[in-house]
Amino acid sequence: MILSQIRKRFGPTEVLRGIDLAIPQGSVLALLGPSGCGKTTLLRLIAGFDPLDEGQIAFGERIVASPTVFVPPERRGIGYVPQEGTLFPHLTVEGNIRFGLPRQDGRRQRVEKVLALTGLAGLGKRYPHELSGGQQQRVALARALAPGPSLVLLDEPFNALDLDLRRSMCEEVVRVLRQTGTTTVLVTHDPGEAFAVSDQLAVMQSGRIMQCARPEAVYWKPASPAAARLTGATLCLPGALTDGQTATCALGAIALHPESPRPDGNASILIRPEQVLWSAQGPGIPATVGYRSFRGDHTLIGVDLAELCLDLRVPSLSAPALGASGYLRVQGACMAFDEKAT
Ligand code: ATP
Repeated sequence: MILSQIRKRFGPTEVLRGIDLAIPQGSVLALLGPSGCGKTTLLRLIAGFDPLDEGQIAFGERIVASPTVFVPPERRGIGYVPQEGTLFPHLTVEGNIRFGLPRQDGRRQRVEKVLALTGLAGLGKRYPHELSGGQQQRVALARALAPGPSLVLLDEPFNALDLDLRRSMCEEVVRVLRQTGTTTVLVTHDPGEAFAVSDQLAVMQSGRIMQCARPEAVYWKPASPAAARLTGATLCLPGALTDGQTATCALGAIALHPESPRPDGNASILIRPEQVLWSAQGPGIPATVGYRSFRGDHTLIGVDLAELCLDLRVPSLSAPALGASGYLRVQGACMAFDEKAT
């Protein structure tokens, strides 16, 4: 699917401001962004629930939306799984899944097949209120998959579930979609979920795609400080480039990522907190633990360093005590941005 220069306004507000995305057949794209950035609006345009103002959506060679073309949702071959609460309460699981299927031979087998695929075998005769939240969302997925769509849109479908279940459900669902060769767009505001399941991660803010790349590339080579913050904890320190390959800041000299911008003069040096290693004996930059917060598998420590206080994560088993003195060393490379970049 190719989205080219999609624009959409509601009244005076331009909600989508020139979206370009290319999603290869059978792949998974995660759309990550803060609340209100336009994720659901974009999914609704792809599904055909709303018309776009400018730009074009094409499935292969077939244009399904442009200012002059509008293919209705039922002829786009798309499955849509919204947030919770969309099952018909008076229909059984089977009834819900059958709902969108044309009356034809093989309908029963199709229902059985998607029930098995989504881990719901044996639950077909139950009503939605007899299912857990996770099972209900599986039914919503089964219903979307039943007509055999070539594209499935998942709009934060597991939001109502607790974090662990949400992540495992999401991984499982994406596995099912991959098995069936279905192209998938997953909307989420959880970077962990986006990293775990996507081939491409599109970071969206204020109606624009800030970066679209492999999850690891977005995490380690964010296109901007804002893209970095949206995808995880970030340390941003004032500094400067010493040459084309090294940056210096309060944490010393750090190798510059080969794909980093190379700003002149003052720069913001950006790394991930887990790149900073603490040791009781050097070498490294001397620092003191100013606060300490146990978080289970890791401990957050705030280290005072010159005039800065940096939040670091260290493994709980080797976390230093409050007030301890030690040394900091940076592992891996940094990105550098103009100090005014946001
Ligand atoms: P969330 O993560 O909270 O679901 P989102 O990124 O999906 O947010 P959208 O639902 O796409 O955001 O909304 C983007 C902006 O468009 C918001 O400011 C919203 O208020 C506005 N908006 C969405 N739908 C309409 C509408 N039908 N009429 C007017 N404004 C709308």
